[in-house]
Amino acid sequence: MSGDCDFGLIGLAVMGENLALNVESRGYKVAVYNRTTSKVDDLMEGRAKGKNFVGTHTIEEFVKSVKRPRKLMMLVKAGPAVDALIEQLLPHCEPGDIIIDGGNEYYLHTERRVKEVEAAGLLYVGCGVSGGEEGALKGPSLMPGGSAEAWPHIKEMFQSIAAKVGPNDDIPCCEWLGAGGAGNYVKMVHNGIEYGDMQLICEAYQLLHELGGLTNDELYDVFEAWNAGELQSYLIEITRDIFSVKDEQGDGHLVDKILDVAGAKGTGKWMSQLALDLGVPSTLVTTAVFARGLSAQKEARVRASETLNGPSAASNPEMQAIAKSLVGDRAEFVEAVRQALYASKIVSYAQGFVQLQAASAEHGWGLDYGAAALLWRGGCIIRAQFLDRIKEAFDKDANLENLLLDEYFEKAVENAQEKWRKVVAVASIMGIPVPAFSTALCYYDGYRMARLPANLLQAQRDYFGAHTYQRTDQDGTFHTEWIQLR
Ligand code: NAP
Repeated sequence: MSGDCDFGLIGLAVMGENLALNVESRGYKVAVYNRTTSKVDDLMEGRAKGKNFVGTHTIEEFVKSVKRPRKLMMLVKAGPAVDALIEQLLPHCEPGDIIIDGGNEYYLHTERRVKEVEAAGLLYVGCGVSGGEEGALKGPSLMPGGSAEAWPHIKEMFQSIAAKVGPNDDIPCCEWLGAGGAGNYVKMVHNGIEYGDMQLICEAYQLLHELGGLTNDELYDVFEAWNAGELQSYLIEITRDIFSVKDEQGDGHLVDKILDVAGAKGTGKWMSQLALDLGVPSTLVTTAVFARGLSAQKEARVRASETLNGPSAASNPEMQAIAKSLVGDRAEFVEAVRQALYASKIVSYAQGFVQLQAASAEHGWGLDYGAAALLWRGGCIIRAQFLDRIKEAFDKDANLENLLLDEYFEKAVENAQEKWRKVVAVASIMGIPVPAFSTALCYYDGYRMARLPANLLQAQRDYFGAHTYQRTDQDGTFHTEWIQLR
């Protein structure tokens, strides 16, 4: 028996409730269920009142109220809750039904679930959802992957609820990404890039505030101006807004009253761990994760600040003169920081796509990188103007080895690099930590170098562990009894 709902949604917390309302607003009839069933009643009596919803109180009732092949989406806490729900859903579902997980799930869990659910004759989709509460309601970025057979069934609905971009606002930020956990992996890389973007913006803030002496009002103006140019993005926009908010409980701006201890939910850590597993240097995300870790050691930092001294640059006129000669006056400094931010951001995205390429090769997903860039153009947290350029780069060359090699980005970094280097140098002279700016620059310099000092490293490994080495002038593997050569 099946009902007449077009779609079923389980999990009526922030994301699920808003996504259900989004689907209904596009003309679909939606069945909803939540473990704590009072939330179903609250929704039906509240935001869903008078709308095309069916509230259900058991999993069986929920499944039976949806048309076949059923499209049943979970937006619940990732992990064991998802396995538990699949187990409860399967006995009531029928062959061809589609179970969709919209949570921030670890991609290997989705790889496993695709196999398990397909073995039961159903289809399974792991769909990254980005954009938070507002995105879920008005148009998120959707990153689906899993059982390819499911895509034609969900495509129209998912593309209708997704954010739209393009000159006519008609290109949906939702495209099929590939098999298994491809959708969750792309979402994880999205979140990792978000970590990098946020850290870079925070470093720019510290430089402008502490070295440049800019007030919050002046920072508002700078971010407003930046948002009108090549840095245009959601994160620059919300950062601008933050500098305008006054503290309702006291004097001054709220941002100055917030404890400098960063939280994290774990997707940046996943991307970092997987980068290590793949052996790809995604240094922006790892650096951003570690920067959050260092921020969390607040008490230790406060103690250390009483003992450890930095450079005397701040009170040393000679070093200040060097710094000034490097970055010029205040306006020039602001522009230099903007260029450092832009160049570092390009490196960050380049690293993200290199990791996607490595993961896709390992798992055989056949990821479409241009599609991933397109999905991130709207609805999600890293949405930015320059994703158009990334999409264009992959449209020109689907197998582009590294974004830095695309003509547009090659020129952009070349134009910015002089100022970028000066900003990193000045930060170092003045004792301001810019881990993300620096690691981006080191990656750029390392990547563009035909020869790195790994020759010596290989010699060291061979010396102490007989790990062998290769030569530049002969084929084969070599070992030397180094100690005898002293
Ligand atoms: P959440 O706080 O992650 O999860 C709460 C929901 O999960 C509630 O509906 C809860 O039901 C349900 N749940 C928890 N354990 C369960 C179990 N064992 N069985 C059945 N249901 C269970 O909610 P959220 O913030 O809306 O996020 C949902 C998913 O979207 C998560 O995976 C999250 O990572 C992802 N996501 C969130 C955001 C965001 O901005 N919040 C953005 C993108 C993606 P009860 O009411 O019964 O407790």
